[in-house]
Amino acid sequence: MIPLATPNLSGNEARYLQECVDSTYVSSVGPFVERLEDMVAAASGAAGAVATSSGTAGLHAALLTLGVGYGDLVVVPSYTFIASANAVAHCGAEPWLMDVALDSWTLDADLLERSLEAETETRDNILVHSTSGRRVAAIVAVYTLGLPADMDRITQIAKRFALPVVADAAAALGATYKDRAVGDLGADLSVFSFNGNKTVTAGGGGAVVSADATLLAGVRHLTTTARVGDDYDHDRVGYNYRMTNLQAAVGCAQMEQLDAFVAAKRRIAARYNAELADLAGASPFPAPKWADSACWFSGVVVDTPLPQVDDMIAQLRGRGIAARAFWKPMHLQAPYKDAPATGMDVSDAIWTRVLTLPCSTHLTDGEQEQAIAAFHDAVRALGRGQ
Ligand SMILES: *Cc1c(COP(=O)(O)O)cnc(C)c1O
Repeated sequence: MIPLATPNLSGNEARYLQECVDSTYVSSVGPFVERLEDMVAAASGAAGAVATSSGTAGLHAALLTLGVGYGDLVVVPSYTFIASANAVAHCGAEPWLMDVALDSWTLDADLLERSLEAETETRDNILVHSTSGRRVAAIVAVYTLGLPADMDRITQIAKRFALPVVADAAAALGATYKDRAVGDLGADLSVFSFNGNKTVTAGGGGAVVSADATLLAGVRHLTTTARVGDDYDHDRVGYNYRMTNLQAAVGCAQMEQLDAFVAAKRRIAARYNAELADLAGASPFPAPKWADSACWFSGVVVDTPLPQVDDMIAQLRGRGIAARAFWKPMHLQAPYKDAPATGMDVSDAIWTRVLTLPCSTHLTDGEQEQAIAAFHDAVRALGRGQ
């Protein structure tokens, strides 16, 4: 079976891990943690970075640092990985789910603006959701599949309503938006993930980046048990969200290959687009002009009259190709089915039709050829079955 995406550990990973063992720096203090923070800040065009134990932990700490608290609403696109919504819930807040735009699968800026205009009002200098009376505290913009959201518009709307913005850039390291680096798009805080299935992994982990040193200091404080001074003095309920030196050792070795990894991901995506997207019943993932995606996952959108994605996946697996469906929107998930939700036409239309295909950075041309041939076969087989 050709896997969907496996880590590419062909660089200095083993050497750096051995350095951790030799030096005994295996825990959350160590030179690789600082080195990784510097590398992530530099690669994302941000002034600084705080490494965290996961992307989810980074999102949680980012939201808390921006003041999100109990009972608040936070705008989150419904089409995302559940961690974006969970981080909001971990603050005691609830996501206000909104639809994504068809041309990017990222937060629909027009819908965002219309909804804030129509459904909120300012009371005592606080933006509240009119019908529930709850404070609207922040916006989470998700960089779907490594594609930045339309951040010029979103940050402009956020400014108008005095809302802070967190970018869930989990899989977007290496992406650009209007030729700007992904950590420099106007979000107050942007969060990356180094989970095992991301383009750059640390086994697990995350990083929060920003242009604002004060905000970053807030994130660092919260993620390191809110300790003040060198002894056991803490000024609020903090978290143990630190990354270990072991994780960072792998992360540094991976970051050394970021450009090559992203180039490989883009090459793979371009080839699937060239060889599958003109097929009857298949179209490419969206690629708006304003961004250059990091192409975390590749695949196709399966249209009618093709059968359900599940049938395609079964066909492909039968031919040795590990294909998979993608995110199920938040408004259809048990924990968030009762959350406020605005306009889900696009999320409802796309989520059952996304099919991801093998796209490891070390996928060979021959393997991709097999995946493409298997897709053609599967389309033909399913076509005959209709
Ligand atoms: C991977 C991912 C996360 C979660 O990151 P973890 O490091 O696994 O906690 C959050 N949001 C999005 C969009 C992701 O793809």
